[in-house]
Amino acid sequence: MRVIKTLREMQTVAKKWHTENKTIGLVPTMGALHTAHLSLLRKAKIDNDFVVLSIFVNPTQFEPSEDYHIYPRDLARDLEIIDGVGIDIIFIPEAADMYPSGFKTTVEVKELSTRLCGAVRPNHFQGVTTVVTKLFNIIKPTRAYFGQKDAQQAIIIKRMAVDLHMEVEIVVLPTIREEDGVAYSSRNLYLSPKERQAAQVIPRSLELAKAKIMQGERVASRIKQQIQDVIQSEPLAQLEYISICEPESLSELEIINEGTLIALAVRIGKARLIDNITAEELS
Ligand code: AMP
Repeated sequence: MRVIKTLREMQTVAKKWHTENKTIGLVPTMGALHTAHLSLLRKAKIDNDFVVLSIFVNPTQFEPSEDYHIYPRDLARDLEIIDGVGIDIIFIPEAADMYPSGFKTTVEVKELSTRLCGAVRPNHFQGVTTVVTKLFNIIKPTRAYFGQKDAQQAIIIKRMAVDLHMEVEIVVLPTIREEDGVAYSSRNLYLSPKERQAAQVIPRSLELAKAKIMQGERVASRIKQQIQDVIQSEPLAQLEYISICEPESLSELEIINEGTLIALAVRIGKARLIDNITAEELS
């Protein structure tokens, strides 16, 4: 496992692998690694000759009022967590190199970036698609791995890769949850023990929605109401949005179909948490 901090060195290593016709799996992260990151890394290891883990707390995907400055950064702990996974390179670029002085170019996936989380985080997805494009250009991965937990992000990146003819396979892996159902997230570190317990209301609301759908409910407004009631029963949780939408266009649906995405954002204490399920195999 080798730590690389400069773009030039990363490009040199990636070029060497390409000339040897090796496949490269890239797992982009912001660090503060947890079990869900490990699942992406393990799959990347199975699928590819070489695995690159990037750790970069990307300033452009945070709104000015958000947690960029307090986002957890602990490289020593990250290195411990990934010990034994068999990662080849940990790429930790500097913000000043990723965004050189005079920087003027961004990548924007229209419409999709303004919906769901984009409505409250207007610059977020442009920051994500720009930095992911940069990582793709630097490393030229064969495959890149993302989590379904950030469903909108995965949908936008897939769209971008198709629209811009990027020669990379976008692999999206299922949401990994803690024992009580709460999705792993670096931002769970912001929660007090009481708030962490309150966060259980998020998977519980989605599980109940899923049960209702399985029982035959298809009317989106009724499912939304049910999720809202569950979230509002928890005084520490503040619902930001619930979306029931078509999973490619992210347009809101009135009737739930197979594949429909049910996504929500909830604020608990200092954390803004997101989660989702999809309605699969409805009979
Ligand atoms: P982050 O470091 O939070 O930017 O996340 C890096 C990658 O890990 C993204 O593709 C996320 O979607 C993915 N990820 C984070 N949490 C989870 C989770 N609980 N389950 C699956 N993937 C996740």
